[in-house]
Amino acid sequence: MKPISLSTGRYALVLGLGAGIGAGLAARAGQTGNSGPWWVLFAISLAAMVLAAVATGFVMRFAASRFIQKASTRDRIAAGLTGTALVVLVLFGQKWIPGFSARTAAVVSIPLGLAAGFVLAELAVRVRSTGTLIAGVLFALFAFFLLRPDAPRGGAPGAGGDENELPPGTLAAIESGRAELLLDEAPVPAVVVIGWDGAAWKVLRPLLERGMLPHIARLLDGAAWSELGSMAPNWSPVIWTTIWTGKSPKEHGIRWFLEDQGHVIPGFQQPAELPATFPVQRFADLFFERRSVPVTTNMRRVKAVWNIANDTGIPVGLTNLLVSWPVEEVLGFEISGHMKFYPDLDGLVHPPEEQEATIRALLNNDWALEDAPGLIPTPWLANVYRSEVNLFRESLRLLEKNPAYLYIFYTHSLDSSQHRYWKYHAPDEFSFAVAEDGVETFGDVIEQNYVIYDRLLGEMMTAFPENTTYMIVSDHGITANKTLDRDIPAMAGLEEKPEVDPELVSGKHSKQDPGILILKGPGIEPGEVRDADVYDIAPTILALLGLPVPDDMAGRALEEVMTPSFLAAKPVLRSGTYEGASPRGSRAIATEHDDEMKERLRALGYID
Ligand SMILES: [Zn+2]
Repeated sequence: MKPISLSTGRYALVLGLGAGIGAGLAARAGQTGNSGPWWVLFAISLAAMVLAAVATGFVMRFAASRFIQKASTRDRIAAGLTGTALVVLVLFGQKWIPGFSARTAAVVSIPLGLAAGFVLAELAVRVRSTGTLIAGVLFALFAFFLLRPDAPRGGAPGAGGDENELPPGTLAAIESGRAELLLDEAPVPAVVVIGWDGAAWKVLRPLLERGMLPHIARLLDGAAWSELGSMAPNWSPVIWTTIWTGKSPKEHGIRWFLEDQGHVIPGFQQPAELPATFPVQRFADLFFERRSVPVTTNMRRVKAVWNIANDTGIPVGLTNLLVSWPVEEVLGFEISGHMKFYPDLDGLVHPPEEQEATIRALLNNDWALEDAPGLIPTPWLANVYRSEVNLFRESLRLLEKNPAYLYIFYTHSLDSSQHRYWKYHAPDEFSFAVAEDGVETFGDVIEQNYVIYDRLLGEMMTAFPENTTYMIVSDHGITANKTLDRDIPAMAGLEEKPEVDPELVSGKHSKQDPGILILKGPGIEPGEVRDADVYDIAPTILALLGLPVPDDMAGRALEEVMTPSFLAAKPVLRSGTYEGASPRGSRAIATEHDDEMKERLRALGYID
């Protein structure tokens, strides 16, 4: 076998570099809104590229002169398998192997580059005369892969395209101006959606049987209900954004609890968004820290049901939603979920002139606790009850001033308590004996959390008109964390800074743990609903508002829960889109509380 000419490596190197530079320039030119100076990003990308090119060129020469001529078929297969194993290790190792850091991955990339070089050289030898050309082309493709442009992100923070101008022909433009028609005859609020994070029938049903949830029982009488299918990835901010938008995580842009914003380069205030290809990212990981920021409202790329309602003239009220900071400039009002933790932030209440009064009402009011003597087993739960009742009562004040047709109230505490206290709620589900004094102290935290929600529901049903339509929805259920094999005592309460220990998280959830759906109102047909999942919620809310369901939502409006007279008055129509021409969505907004927020997420076992 004729050995490869030494010039092949150099030729491929030149070709690859040329292609890399071209691709890098194209990437930078096509990318708007990048927070770092383009030349720094470009220099880093190019450096990574050059490193890869030099390594590959060197290996091609080395392999051609020293190795290939002598290698047996078995050696080549072994080398190929080793290369493949290394690829798998680097690509997935970080996720699978504890302690496998970005730095380790970068080091492992070196033998990986050698394996790639071996394959290229082998190919060049085999095809002889055209080998140089093929190696060059392959290398150019590789270079472009390294530096290819990221998906463009449009829109200024919070703006989300031009909100005031509805593109002609979209559903919002066709439907705009409905509010007057609706509000004249409808109760305020007409549709109330209550989000209970993590609520599950398997906990609810026994409590209902024991008569502990009288208001939920009253709502269920004559209601439609369902085991609501959840989704993957099973992270609350992701699922709730799907619930409110009817879109997949890929479409709506909320992928996790945090957004990885890229590398922090000394001397520059904003982190740099390097091309999202694996080797470039790994190379940069060697030298720069990454910054991650909790997800914020402005990241959402598509409209939520309240944006659609607003576009058609329907006012809304939003309280305590999971991804709700900064608040949106809704027609109606919104209180951010950040309110109870970070009252010093801006953007907690819309309209903004209400922020001060709202903060005052929420922080300086102890009415809730006086209502509930003996109800609360732990200080943490007492705090939950206090803040949730206060939030609702403050919402009523804003609702009075800003009548809303659609009102949404979300609360998260149930998910937290189920994660932390599941082994005390269901000690039999674990392979080890759960400490009895723990069961004694914490055994009813989860139950009492449901009782709190029941009380709040009762308060809502008293405050709102008779003919209001209710929807209660949860994003997933809960199950025992079977990976635990021993008992670790829980902290007295989550308000004390807990040690970071994943073994404290005894409840977990996945796509296999269904949430709940309850619907009750004058237009609702009672009975069990089958095959409903989180994608069906946004279409169903739109149908309940009498708005067409757009074609670009994957789910369906649950027509079987609507009475014939409701459907005669508001037939479920399906067509078009509500989305504007310009894409929404921008980078998460960093705040000084980010570390604190991450600490809270970590304590609950949501992030590592
Ligand atoms: Zn959740």
